Amino acid sequence: MTFWPSPLSQTAYNHAVQITPALNALVTAIATDYDYLRETLRETAAADPQFTGRLLGMLGKGLEKKSVDLAISRFDYFVNDDADVRGAGGLRMVEMNCIASSFACLSARTSDMHRHLSAHPAVDGGQKGKMPPNRAGQELARGMAAARREYERLHSSEGTVTVMVVQPGERNAYDQDLLRFELWDTHAVEMVRLSLREIAEVGRVDKEARLWVRLEGREVEVSVVYYRAGYAPTDYPSEMEWDAREMMEGTLAAKCPSVAMQLVGTKKVQQVLDHDGEVERFIAEKDAREVRKTFAGQWSLGEGEGGEEVARMAIEKPAEFVLKPQREGGGNNLYGQEMKEALQKMKPSERSAYVLMERIRPVVVKNVLVREGRFEETEIVSEFGVYGVGVAVKSGLVENYAAGTLLRSKSASQDDGGVAAGVAVLDSPVLVD
Ligand code: ADP
Ligand code: MG
Repeated sequence: MTFWPSPLSQTAYNHAVQITPALNALVTAIATDYDYLRETLRETAAADPQFTGRLLGMLGKGLEKKSVDLAISRFDYFVNDDADVRGAGGLRMVEMNCIASSFACLSARTSDMHRHLSAHPAVDGGQKGKMPPNRAGQELARGMAAARREYERLHSSEGTVTVMVVQPGERNAYDQDLLRFELWDTHAVEMVRLSLREIAEVGRVDKEARLWVRLEGREVEVSVVYYRAGYAPTDYPSEMEWDAREMMEGTLAAKCPSVAMQLVGTKKVQQVLDHDGEVERFIAEKDAREVRKTFAGQWSLGEGEGGEEVARMAIEKPAEFVLKPQREGGGNNLYGQEMKEALQKMKPSERSAYVLMERIRPVVVKNVLVREGRFEETEIVSEFGVYGVGVAVKSGLVENYAAGTLLRSKSASQDDGGVAAGVAVLDSPVLVD
């Protein structure tokens, strides 16, 4: 964590929170358009058949009958160092996360800790000012409870459980358990943690396509499947894990996310959305305009899409771009000299697995990083995330809201980020203008 909260522009904060419902609408709308996903991801899937290709192959194999969908996303931004000319406080979107967006609970705890410290008489100095409330954990749990309620209403059932799909040996279990406890304490909803492998062993689908899991001494119906795993190829070490994913995808249970929604979060779809008219296909033009104010330049490296020329541009000016594969979780992007050499070595067909993005230069501030009991005063950059919750019943959104925030900071000298990747730490914002 950081010792102090870090400054964040009030304008940027407001804009990011305000556009969140439009972004929820955007990602849920794209997730219903299988043809769009297939077309957009065709080349990418061919270049990454073991993962993106495999997920894409699952599209439409599931259930035709519409049920409840739960979208829990996180939209991540840097605040750009330039003068703000777009009226969004310098916000630039780094990425949209449509699966396993973590840290909602620990983020809210970090806000609480910073508020406590800043008021404590023994602590002097650092940032003082407006620290916005952050109820991310509660807001996510509220969305899950709503999805369960809609499921039970639609399918005339009661006493269903929710499942959190986890990685075996998960290190972020505390963030996850706080969510489970909130769900139980506030909504009396039971959530059980199971790995994909365990689900393959204890899960079954009945004739009506309901999902059931066998727990100690009982078998229970599942209304919501919340994935905190399944976003990386390493989450599927054998066919058993893929089988479990496919089994759940074909059930009435609300998937958070569905395979379609997970694919919306690919770097490729985000790159295509940067093209004129793409966001506007899915949401109202006035909302699209506000969303677009946060976009950074992205380019296709696809063979038929001018990828050759784009690669040349990046090789000439490696400091100005980031190369992104279709992966999640931090530590996968390439920068600078390393990016240049990789692009020079790749065959055109291999390049299609990546997109190129303009390198954002975020505002640099001073703070104290606290890690493994050591304090280090240093220059940092912060990545601001806003959680979004959408509950769709037969495609219409019955809940759509911004669900709290996350601030993660890292030393300004680091290229890539990610708390779980061991680079960034948890922070919270103090709003300035
Ligand atoms: P992941 O799915 O691995 O989290 P991201 O797109 O968030 O992928 O990239 C990981 C990290 O790389 C980010 O947290 C950020 O620190 C850095 N990064 C990503 N895109 C850019 C960019 N356009 N400019 C500068 N840094 C970036
Ligand atoms: Mg990220």
